Amino acid sequence: AAGIPAVPPVVGARLAVPLVDGRRVPYANLDHAASTPALEAVRDAVDELLPWYASVHRGAGFASQVCTRVHDQARDVLRRFVGAHRTDQVIFTRNTTDSLNLLAGALPRGTSVVLFDTEHHAALLPWRGPRVHRLRTPQSTGDAVLALDRALADCAVGPRLVVLTAASNVTGEVWPIAELSAVARRHGARVALDAAQLAPHRPVDIRALDVDWVALSGHKLYAPFGAGALVGRADWLRAAEPHLVGGGATASVTDRGDRLAVTWSTGPERHEAGSPNVVGVHALATACEAITRHGWDAVVEHERVLLHRLRAGLATVPGLRPLSLFGAEHDRVGVVSFTVDGLDSGLAAAVLSAEHGIGVRDGAFCAHVATARLLDRAGSSERRALRVSIGLGTTPEHVDRLVAALHTLVDGGPATEYALVDGRWAP
Ligand code: PMP
Repeated sequence: AAGIPAVPPVVGARLAVPLVDGRRVPYANLDHAASTPALEAVRDAVDELLPWYASVHRGAGFASQVCTRVHDQARDVLRRFVGAHRTDQVIFTRNTTDSLNLLAGALPRGTSVVLFDTEHHAALLPWRGPRVHRLRTPQSTGDAVLALDRALADCAVGPRLVVLTAASNVTGEVWPIAELSAVARRHGARVALDAAQLAPHRPVDIRALDVDWVALSGHKLYAPFGAGALVGRADWLRAAEPHLVGGGATASVTDRGDRLAVTWSTGPERHEAGSPNVVGVHALATACEAITRHGWDAVVEHERVLLHRLRAGLATVPGLRPLSLFGAEHDRVGVVSFTVDGLDSGLAAAVLSAEHGIGVRDGAFCAHVATARLLDRAGSSERRALRVSIGLGTTPEHVDRLVAALHTLVDGGPATEYALVDGRWAP
């Protein structure tokens, strides 16, 4: 459509799906915030690598050399993708959850951790102990700055870590990261950024945002499941117990009779024991490169136009209550959650899929505290919401179909009967 810049081809963007009435329609995937289909460049890169499957850093064979090279290059790509410092480490993980659990296990004894209760469970739950300070969902960005400042002033003496989300997976709102990290710095605190939801939509730059660690997931970034990264400062990670123990994480293991003397590697391998996911990290790195090559301006503009269309369309649906942390005018990526008065969100999601071929998410989005607070603020009596999220494969037709389908649902309800089966609505 006019005004929407070309986007890189996405695998699955042209899939057709069967509807309950027997028709097939092109799938409108509006659930990119959960996972994104791979880019064609990613599929091609994976296809090319698959015949060369071999162990990394362990074999002299040609295939092993190929995989070792690919794996090492992927680290460089990720380093550049987030603008890491030369001394930062790139540790490959399974996903953002794994990355943040790794970091939680690497904190020096007595570290105070400060975070908002709006976090996705991946960022909310890994930190344990008496020195975890959970701040209530703020009313405004100014509120967030003040609350963080106060909490850090009250922290016990010792290391401090602030955990922040770059963009909310519930509302898409972009947090004022640079501003919050400036507060953290004033109190000598380090900052870990959950960038799972921002990385597919905007550039994430460790230096510009002035954060210490960035965690992200490949499957939200147009690569397949199974590869993610924790990028950032090396010192705590180098000194910590390994995240996993086993082959590849050790510099040496010797038998001392009554015990084994183990020297762990001080590089990123320290936390990556076991045969690495070479294909996964190659896919992730290829996605990063493809997005960078395509250009962030084009990614952002594509999304801006579609998000405007989506929000304008949703505003015409009677009884629709959007969820928002910082207000309607706040900067956001292409993620929108809402309830519609009188409409069960689970049922609506099932009808959108079965009768309209539209994929959205319903529930509390692994951010139960945040979703409950935002539903209360929106004056909704529902405990679950619908979430619509835009990605590179989204077209104006997908957006228009969703808005039309919501109108049909509000006006006339489902075309067929639905029943709850194991907690989910099915036709
Ligand atoms: N943080 C945010 C903001 C997310 O949206 C998600 C995924 N929904 C995660 C963390 C966790 O990502 P993963 O499931 O890939 O570990």
